Amino acid sequence: MGHAFSVEMTSREHVNRIYVSNDTRSPVVFEGELKIRGLRIVEDLMLEVNGVNGILRIDLTAEEFEHYCKPETCTCMRGDKSG
Ligand SMILES: [Zn+2]
Repeated sequence: MGHAFSVEMTSREHVNRIYVSNDTRSPVVFEGELKIRGLRIVEDLMLEVNGVNGILRIDLTAEEFEHYCKPETCTCMRGDKSG
């Protein structure tokens, strides 16, 4: 299952690199520097990394957040398809 995400910076000032190739199978790179103010899960729907100069958002419930933060129970990184 995919999770929608977005990166919104207040200006280009803290964005170091954006790379998008014409080849749709090539990696896409977005690099910058975020001055973090806080992290929260909004309405049990979205993880938000709030910065002074931008915001990172990804659709993620609190339950999913906990799941992915526990390497002892989460086997996702080891290729287990259970999620
Ligand atoms: Zn997992």
